[in-house]
Amino acid sequence: MRQTFLLLICWHAISCSFPHYPKKYEKLGVLTKDTLKEIKNVNSNNNKVYVQYLGCNNLLIKFKDETILFDPFFSNNRGLKAALGKIKFKEGYFKKGSWFVNRNNNSFSKINAVFISHSHYDHLLDLAYLLEKDSLPTNALIYGDQSTKNIINNFIKNRKFNNSENFVYNSKFKNKNWIKISNNMRVLIIPSSHAPHFRHIHFMKGHTDSMYFNNFKSSTQLVKANQFKEGKTFAFIVDLLESDSIIKYRILIKGAGCEINEGKIEDELLQDKKIDLAILQIASANFTNCYPQNLLNQIKPEKVLLTHWENFFNPYSPKKIKTVNATNFNYFFKKAKSVDRDLDSLKLSDKYSLPMPGTMHVYEF
Ligand SMILES: [Zn+2]
Repeated sequence: MRQTFLLLICWHAISCSFPHYPKKYEKLGVLTKDTLKEIKNVNSNNNKVYVQYLGCNNLLIKFKDETILFDPFFSNNRGLKAALGKIKFKEGYFKKGSWFVNRNNNSFSKINAVFISHSHYDHLLDLAYLLEKDSLPTNALIYGDQSTKNIINNFIKNRKFNNSENFVYNSKFKNKNWIKISNNMRVLIIPSSHAPHFRHIHFMKGHTDSMYFNNFKSSTQLVKANQFKEGKTFAFIVDLLESDSIIKYRILIKGAGCEINEGKIEDELLQDKKIDLAILQIASANFTNCYPQNLLNQIKPEKVLLTHWENFFNPYSPKKIKTVNATNFNYFFKKAKSVDRDLDSLKLSDKYSLPMPGTMHVYEF
């Protein structure tokens, strides 16, 4: 009897950890398959922010005339190849990503700024291509740490690269270095951390030096996946403004599961405005102790958009899409439900969304 029980537990743990189609979350309506999802707010002032999910943590956020891009990566490489050695930018997948972007009347040529959360290849590989092909406006602002710079150095050309470490919020000095995108939008880079990839194993830690990437001269060149070291990991607060100073809507973006400050952000950052929309990475969250429950308990966001949920070791296909390896979604939602009192009265799908890559969410406020 005891053995059967143990076997059942093992089977459950294994089946939750291996990639599978998230049927349960499709049934619950959390999996957003629509290409466009509008989230209305009864108290709306007809302001709309467009948040497009492009896979992994690749996001495009558009408000009024400003568009910002996070963690450009469409080029899913097969898992075995990535694990054993070399990966490369895939133009075909990138075209699909561009098609998603163009379909919603966006274009890489309209991007005002690019932010990189950390330097693993699944957060920046396609930036090299965007720069190489001059797909971004020449005055687009690019923010990443020194590891990011070392990786894409040969593609920056005459552009200005901004080292995020010079802008990052420091609670000791309360240096809120907001990056002004326009009168309507500003971004704050905040310190964050990266969850282990499996149990306590944390791959590709440390900083990327420039030695290996000195020879990275063409975006379609094969490069070693394990040379994309994490560097510093950041999260972001995006404020949508009225008249240059009134904060109308606040978005938090976490491109990695996190335990820094026990998974919370500094209280000081929430004093002038609470977080309306939390964009949180789900991958590997089950290998952290405090994330996402401590953060959710602290920020109490109105809506939650989950990223980095699909298996990026396979070419993207909506019918064959599976969950990311080694991530237990049930456990993530169990931790979320343990602190999210909104879920006592709301359905999970009223608040949480697991979007298919390409899906555009329109939040009214
Ligand atoms: Zn990573």
